Amino acid sequence: VGRLAGKRCFVTAAGQGIGRATALAYAAEGASVVATDREAAKLAGLEASGIECLALDVLDDAAVAAAIANAGPLDVLFNCAGFVHQNTIETCTDADWNFGFALNVRSMWQTIRAALPAMVAKGGGSIVNMSSACSSVKGAPNRFLYGTTKAAVIGLTKSVATEYVTRGVRCNCLCPGTVDTPSLGERVAANAAAAGSLEAARAAFVARQAMGRLATAEEMAALVVYLSAPESTFVTGQAIVIDGGWTL
Ligand code: NAD
Repeated sequence: VGRLAGKRCFVTAAGQGIGRATALAYAAEGASVVATDREAAKLAGLEASGIECLALDVLDDAAVAAAIANAGPLDVLFNCAGFVHQNTIETCTDADWNFGFALNVRSMWQTIRAALPAMVAKGGGSIVNMSSACSSVKGAPNRFLYGTTKAAVIGLTKSVATEYVTRGVRCNCLCPGTVDTPSLGERVAANAAAAGSLEAARAAFVARQAMGRLATAEEMAALVVYLSAPESTFVTGQAIVIDGGWTL
């Protein structure tokens, strides 16, 4: 019997990277999974694992509310959607700021608010949010907006955990170091000119990790499954660092 047998799980940004790896890991643990992404085409292939796929832009409040009402009542909500802006306090624009907070923070407010009533009525559940080691845990160069939004995710997580601790709902977040995903490839490419080459830009990301390698999305999914499953029922309000030694 899987560790999530009988559980109804909902994942945002499941088209690629950590969200996709987690949707697959949930299904492998026996969960009934709804995988969502802004780009429906990226969800291709997940149905083969018994996963329900749904186009969902987490910036669309009405669509979020409808998707969660239709999918629910949920046992597990994994808020994975987020964007990594590369900027400083001086280069960040108003538009960047508004978009970064809307996607990385506000969307979690909307999904959690939509999921909670049915989750509480069902007797409880687990909410897992995507933060980053780059947050209130540590600073990183050129990550002004990103680190600011991901620190807010930790505050949001602790608030939800506090409010619902007596009603069976747990809320935790993970704080990864650098994970080898499609969007990391884009960030490497964006830094290639400054670093001298694509290889040098990639090597700079690897060098941040004390283990001398990047994480895999599957290593992140393993932690998300733990936080989602009954084995972690005494864990709530935590920001769990999973960073290959970046913060050592
Ligand atoms: P990714 O960035 O490669 O893919 C992101 C996915 O999100 C894409 O499938 C995209 O279509 C989807 N998406 C974008 N905007 C959306 C929206 N408005 N609504 C719904 N879906 C949307 O994936 P990743 O690198 O695994 O990152 C996932 C999360 O993990 C992000 O929150 C990111 O900040 C966080 N994270 C990543 C790393 C890393 O090194 N990759 C490290 C720490 C935290």
